[in-house]
Formats: sequence, structure tokens, C-alpha cells
Amino acid sequence: MLEDKNQEKTSLSQLGEFGLIEHLTKHFEVTHSTTVKAVGDDAAVIDASEKQTVITTDLLVEGVHFDLSYMPLKHLGYKAVMVNLSDVYAMNAEAEQITVSLAVSNRFPLEALEELYAGIQLACATYKVDLIGGDTTSSTKGMLLSITAIGKAKKEELVYRDGAKATDLIVVSGDLGGAYLGLQVLEREKQVFQVNPTNQPDLDQYSYLIERQLKPEARKDIPKLLRDLEVQPTAMIDISDGLSSEIMHICKQSNTGCKIYEEKLPLDPQVIGTCEEFNIDSTMVALSGGEDYELLFTVSINDFDKIKGNPNLSVIGHITEAAAGMNLVTRANQEIALKAQGWNSFEE
Ligand SMILES: [Mg+2]
Repeated sequence: MLEDKNQEKTSLSQLGEFGLIEHLTKHFEVTHSTTVKAVGDDAAVIDASEKQTVITTDLLVEGVHFDLSYMPLKHLGYKAVMVNLSDVYAMNAEAEQITVSLAVSNRFPLEALEELYAGIQLACATYKVDLIGGDTTSSTKGMLLSITAIGKAKKEELVYRDGAKATDLIVVSGDLGGAYLGLQVLEREKQVFQVNPTNQPDLDQYSYLIERQLKPEARKDIPKLLRDLEVQPTAMIDISDGLSSEIMHICKQSNTGCKIYEEKLPLDPQVIGTCEEFNIDSTMVALSGGEDYELLFTVSINDFDKIKGNPNLSVIGHITEAAAGMNLVTRANQEIALKAQGWNSFEE
């Protein structure tokens, strides 16, 4: 919308800070009984209830974490909420509230912020979380967006990164690598557009990948699925930086090793096809891609019968003793040491 010269633009200075917050938040509804007071007082009030409170925050900076030349503002708002909810679900908790803080330069008119908040509101409505506060202010350059999410869980249901044990199975939800490839496609189209602005790209064959990059969904369904299956994960993390670095976080904090099997990595057909087209290794993309916002967790081997064959879940390996190291077992049955970005092909 920043590029559209014909749209109506209202300068933010016309509203003033309180007018702006009121304007941007007036359509948000409160749905949780734990939200005692949302936007509109000096501070929000949450009923602490008998559960434990989970809090996570994330700061997104224009030019560092997002590029508005291909990220529509509505998508940015939606994704910024997802990134935070994903961290709450990775604790096996339910998200209930968010706060949104925003700094924008005078390049952004009111209509741009309305689009951003439309995405935030869609996320709140879809995932049933209440917007309870935040702040808006001016920045000298670009946009900064910080969201905090608050969730709840019973003490015995919370899952940390440090509970994995040797022989536990390693499980991942959904599929991997799509968001990274979506970004590669968008970056390529941006370069084509800069050379020839009249070029209309045909992105149909990348639809899933672009959706994974621009409109990721946090896996709210997985903690519920696990409760329904009566499976309590021993460790859990969400995949924001790539499978490889996330499993290494679990192993280091649990003081274990792991074996991940290349042939078990869940890949969408668009990921496989686009890797061939871009001449990149799909295993590398699955291990290092990042931004998939799937959940990676470990379960006792005794729970295998409860999760096997579930279309939402893939068993991709198992936890080992720490001394065995953190390894990828290739299709050729070779063991290669994982590293934070992919694997180290020079180590045996
Ligand atoms: Mg995380």
C-alpha cells in the first residue's frame, strides 16, 4: 500500500497518540475471562488463575527481519503475532493475551497502520487471543514492531527444552523448508521486478512456499492433539531458526545426543520441486531453512503407538547419549555431525 500513490493517506500527526491507539484497537474483542482489563487504562489486568504464566516477546525491525517491498503490512501483522504464539505453544501452553508496540517513521500514513492492525486482528480472532495493550511512537527511520504474548499452562503440562532422555523419539509437526524457499522465490521476483517493473510474475507453482513465508500459522493444534493422545512431550521447541539448530538446543540443554534420519525429513512436493529448480539440497533446506514455525519435540518411546501414522506428525529420529554426538544419518547410511546451520560435511 506504500507504493499505491492513489490511495487515501492520513498523516499520523492528525490523530495524536491516544487517538491513534483508540482508532487502531477499537475493533478488537476480548474473549478470555482471564483478561480483566484490556486497552484503555494505565495498565492491563490479567487474572493470574491457578495456572502458571508463560511470557515471550519478539522485536521485528524493518530491513533486518522484514522487507515491506514484498511483505504486505497485513501479513506482517499476522506473522508477527504468529512468531510469538508459536513460542507459547512450544511451552505446551495456551496463548491468551498479546501486547503490541510499534514505532514508525512519518513515511507511514494511518492507512498503512490500519492494514498492519487488520493482520494483527485477524490473528487474534483466529487464535483467540486478546490484545490488551502496547504503545505507538515515532521512529526516525522505518518500522519497529514488538509483540509480547502471554499464555497459561498447568504446571505439570509445561514442556521445557531440557527434558529429553536417550531413546526418546524426535518428532516434528508439518513439513520443513517451505518458508525459506518462499523467501528465495520472493527475493528472486524482487530482483526481476527491479530490472523490469512491468513483469507480472506467475507464482502459482510456489503458492504453498509463499504462503509459508508470508502467512505462517503457529501450531496451536499440536499441544491440543498431544493432550488428546495423552502424550506429554519430554522436551519441545518451535522451529524458527531451522531444525538443526533447534534440535541442538534440545540436546545441549538435555545433555544428550541425537540421530536424525535424512529419509524421514518431511518435505512438501513444492519444496522438492523448487529445490531442484534452484539447485539446492532439500535436506540442507529442511535442516537450516528456518521460519517454518513447526513444533519439534521428544516423546518417550513408549508413546510411539499413540503418535505413529498421525498425518500431523513425523518421527524423524531419536535421542542418544551425549557421547554419541548430534548426527544426521544420510540416505547412504553415513553419519554426519549436525551443526547449527545444517551439517558439517567435513566431519565424520
Ligand atoms: Mg522459540
